[in-house]
Amino acid sequence: MGRLKVKPSVTYCGAVQQPAVDLASLTLEGLTTFFTSIGEKPFRAKQVYTWLHQRGVTSFDEMTDLSKALRERLKTTALLRSVTKDLEQRSIDGTIKYRFQTHDGRMIESVYMPSPDRKTLCVSTQVGCAMGCKFCATATLGLVRQLAPSEIVAQVHAVNREVRRNEGLETLRPITNLVFMGMGEPLHNFENVKTALTLLESEEGPNFSARHITVSTVGLVPMIERFATETDVKLAISLNASNDETRDRIMPVNKKWKIADLMDAVKRFPARYGRRVTFEYVLMSGVNDTDDDAHRLAALLKDVPAKVNLIQYNENPGLGFGSTGDNRAEQFKKILEAAEVAAFIRANRGRDIAAACGQLANVDKRSDGGKLENDLGSA
Ligand code: SF4
Repeated sequence: MGRLKVKPSVTYCGAVQQPAVDLASLTLEGLTTFFTSIGEKPFRAKQVYTWLHQRGVTSFDEMTDLSKALRERLKTTALLRSVTKDLEQRSIDGTIKYRFQTHDGRMIESVYMPSPDRKTLCVSTQVGCAMGCKFCATATLGLVRQLAPSEIVAQVHAVNREVRRNEGLETLRPITNLVFMGMGEPLHNFENVKTALTLLESEEGPNFSARHITVSTVGLVPMIERFATETDVKLAISLNASNDETRDRIMPVNKKWKIADLMDAVKRFPARYGRRVTFEYVLMSGVNDTDDDAHRLAALLKDVPAKVNLIQYNENPGLGFGSTGDNRAEQFKKILEAAEVAAFIRANRGRDIAAACGQLANVDKRSDGGKLENDLGSA
């Protein structure tokens, strides 16, 4: 259940004051506990939960089946933490990148990718990221802070509203699929991501199917076990190298957990839970895209019921990595397929608006393309 993180704070005169509770970060169970604790009937929890997570409202005044007195009371005892749209950029391929501002002025990004058979949203889980992947624009920000469950889910609610309005839809939840591949490493914010998943999958909320949610990790090995036992959604591993030498160089996390450790964790994962793992492999010219790399990758995945998504690198100015061309990517894929590894070259969405994998870094393309002055330095 969501935890009521109510730490008393001391006011200027020394009196202890209870800070307002972030209601949209609570599960239905947590919300029930909250309403009971303030002397209200438990059924209020379901009413408020439905408003928050099924209809995606952002103010108490919109909860019209609550009495005015209760709405006023909630304004003083609780808060609704949401995100505000700050910028949207549209790609020629239909992808839309949204930049949202959090309650404390931080910027996060979400990417909406419509296709004929699904409407997918990529969400952020942290402001910045601590993992330091050398090819990734988000890494240059460092970790600023974790996102609360409410802030993760608020991205979904906000884009649902946008899609309803833009596409003239009446359905409450037009988004069909979610990927946790935006800014941040989801397993480095595991508790909040887990609560967000509970909210997103709840019947009284958006009611996403676990099969339609994928969480991506660089490979925090101890957390993969917890992820397997404590959640039921799909896992993607951002692998990006076929040997430790290369992975050490481009993904610092590999200095702590080697590829062999990662593969051991992954091998235990699907066997116990029947959940197939996806490997994401960003192809970078001359770094990890040779025939030898493809053969080594095939050998690594020999006994793993997995598929590989090959992603041609989206270049980020100043990071020093180049994209693999179409022919090389095809050849890489063929080697994997010859070794009976399911491999796909993933369409690059939103490349022209820096919305593709590894390109999210609060770059303001309206003006000079420089980073926004939003205090997004290193942690
Ligand atoms: S690729 Fe993902 S984990 Fe690595 S720095 Fe970027 S956001 Fe973080």
